[in-house]
Amino acid sequence: MSTGTFLAGRTALVTGSTSGIGRGIAQALARAGADVMVHGLGAPAMIAADCAALAAETGRRIGWDAADLTSPGEVERLIVATRERIGPVDILVNNAGIQHVSPVEEFPPEKWEMIRSLMLDASFHAIRLTVAGMKQRGWGRIVNLASVHGLVASPFKSAYVAAKHAQVGLTKSVALELAETGITCNAICPGYVRTPLVEGQIADQARVHGLPRERVIREVILAAQPTKRFVEIEEVASLALFLCGDSARSITGAAIPIDGGWTSR
Ligand code: NAD
Repeated sequence: MSTGTFLAGRTALVTGSTSGIGRGIAQALARAGADVMVHGLGAPAMIAADCAALAAETGRRIGWDAADLTSPGEVERLIVATRERIGPVDILVNNAGIQHVSPVEEFPPEKWEMIRSLMLDASFHAIRLTVAGMKQRGWGRIVNLASVHGLVASPFKSAYVAAKHAQVGLTKSVALELAETGITCNAICPGYVRTPLVEGQIADQARVHGLPRERVIREVILAAQPTKRFVEIEEVASLALFLCGDSARSITGAAIPIDGGWTSR
């Protein structure tokens, strides 16, 4: 992807960027010139090597923090750490997320709480704590990684669907509030993207349905995705990057599907 350096001088915080979509977005932003705070859980040695490789490739400042975003205090600590180690946050990508699949009557309340606090509350706290600085600088980009499940539902994903719908609502409200400030706030709504989060679901569904992996992918996982192929991480990263550019300054409050036609049904 040739993207130039149009984000030179900007600092980005991408939550959940030690893996999957967030990692792809962090790489795309750094390749476009942004200094990036990578965030998320995982094996420290592997993450450190990944960050060092990105810094060497791009010449950008790349940090890493493993804040547990289910705790509001940790969200605040992460924002302060980003400011002190990389710079004040100009681009905030709220991407960290988890899934839990269960009938609603058996849904563990602690899983509900964890999903809501990680995907909704942490997005609110991170926005709350970064908007004042963006306003002072007269520029900002907030990108919330929602999902098709922020627009439509599937069964057995009550917490995820509720949190993602709420994240889309938060996106719209914040966009309206900030409309005249040079800050945009949008949600990206992917269908299935092949990441570790989805790999786990393929394995689970293969067990539940007693089907081979390839049939699970086509008939179960991608049943609602008309293109019958996974969205690639790079496609989502390109959309996030576009939303950070000046060409996207009039796009705000949008919930943009990248779902192979899923939500056209
Ligand atoms: P992933 O599992 O590959 O990565 C999730 C990231 O979140 C990791 O960096 C992980 O360390 C971090 N994380 C998990 N729990 C955390 C916690 N308590 N505190 C801090 N960080 C935590 O997932 P992914 O598939 O790349 O998903 C990224 C986002 O995109 C999520 O919000 C997900 O809901 C959304 N999404 C994914 C898909 C898909 O098909 N993969 C589709 C639509 C939306």
